[in-house]
Amino acid sequence: MRIKMGTVILLLFFLLILISSCNKAPQAHTEIIFGTVCSINLFKKGTEKRYQELFARLNELDQILSANRDDSTIAKINAAAGLHPVHAGKEIIEILSSALFYAEKSEGLFNPAIGPLVRLWNIGNENARVPEPAAITQALLLVDWKSIHIDSENETVFLEKPGMLLDLGAIAKGYAANEVASMIRSWGISRGIIDLGGNIVTLGNKEKGTPWHIGIRNPELSGGNSIISLYASDVSMVTSGINERFFIENQKRYHHILDPKTGYPAENDLLSVSVISPDSMEADALSTTLFLLGREKSITFLAAFPGVEAVFIDKTRAVHVTNGLFGSLKIRDSSFYLYP
Ligand code: FAD
Ligand code: MG
Repeated sequence: MRIKMGTVILLLFFLLILISSCNKAPQAHTEIIFGTVCSINLFKKGTEKRYQELFARLNELDQILSANRDDSTIAKINAAAGLHPVHAGKEIIEILSSALFYAEKSEGLFNPAIGPLVRLWNIGNENARVPEPAAITQALLLVDWKSIHIDSENETVFLEKPGMLLDLGAIAKGYAANEVASMIRSWGISRGIIDLGGNIVTLGNKEKGTPWHIGIRNPELSGGNSIISLYASDVSMVTSGINERFFIENQKRYHHILDPKTGYPAENDLLSVSVISPDSMEADALSTTLFLLGREKSITFLAAFPGVEAVFIDKTRAVHVTNGLFGSLKIRDSSFYLYP
C-alpha cells in the first residue's frame, strides 16, 4: 500500500499533538518499594522535588521497617530476640503499639510476632512449600505477641524469646501511606492519590469537586481488573486477599494471611476484604484482621470501630457491604453481585 507524503506529514502532526498533550497530563510518580508498586499522583501540584521528598521518606521507612532486609531496624530487633532491647525509633514504637492494640482486640489473630511462620511458609517466594507439621508447631511457640515488650519512653523494643521475629507486613504500608499523606497536606496540597501496593489514600476530590472513584480488583485474579468502584474523598481503602501472594500444591491454594492459632493460611469463604477508614494504618491492620476473623465475626468486631466500613467478597462472588456503603458503590462485573 502506498501512503502519500501529505498523509505522512498529517499523521506526524497529529502524533506531535498527542505527545505534547500526553506530556502535559499529570502523571503519577511510581517506584518499587516495600516489595510492591508504590505510586503517588499530586496532579498539577506534582513537582519533581515534591515526589523526591515523598519517595525518599518511603525508602527511609522501608530501611527501618522491612523484615526482608538484613540492615533494617526490624532486623536488628529480631537479631536481639532473647538477648537485649534495641533502640527502635518513633516509627516502630508507633506502629508496634498500634499492632499490639489490634492483637489484643482480635485475641492474637492479628499478630505482629508472626515472623517465624511467615519465614517458614515463605509465601511470595519461589521456593514456597507446605512446611512439615513439626516445623509449624515449633514456629507457633515463637508467635507470641505477649512476649513483645515496648518501652515507649526510651523507644526500645525487646523480644523476650530467642528466635522471635517481628513482621509488620500487615500494617506498615498503612503507616507509610498516612505519613506521605500528612506530608502532602502540610504543603497545603489538598488533592491527590496515594497507592502503596493497594493501600490507597484519596486526598480531597476530583478537580470538579466530585469524589474519586476507587476500585477493588477482581479478587480471583492476580492483578485483575477493577470490578467494584466506590466513591471516596479523604479516606483510605486497603484490601487483603488471597489473589496476589499464594502458591498451589496438590491443587490446594495456600495464601499469605496466616492463622496464628493453626499455623496455616486462614481458611474461610472469603476472597478478599477491603476496609475503608480515614486512617490508612487502621484500614491496613483491620483488612488483615477481618480476613482472619471471617465475615460474620467481623460484623460484631467492627461495632467497636465507628466510621469504618468494609466490603467482603466471598467465594460465591457475593459482595457483602457494611451499612454505610449501600448506595456508594458500583459493581462493574456482572458475575459478582451485591448480597441483599
Ligand atoms: P496484608 O493482609 O495487609 O498483610 C499480610 C501480610 O502480613 C503477610 O504477607 C505477612 O507478612 C503478615 N501476616 C500474615 N499473617 C498475619 C497475621 N496473622 N497477623 C499479622 N500479620 C500477618 N515483599 C517482598 O516480596 N519483598 C520485599 O522486599 C518486601 N519489603 C517489604 C518492606 C516493608 C516495610 C513492608 C511493610 C512489606 C514488605 N514486603 C516485601 C511485603 C509485601 O509488600 C507484602 O505483600 C505486604 O506486606 C502484604 O501486604 P498486603 O497488603 O498484601 O496484605
Ligand atoms: Mg493489612
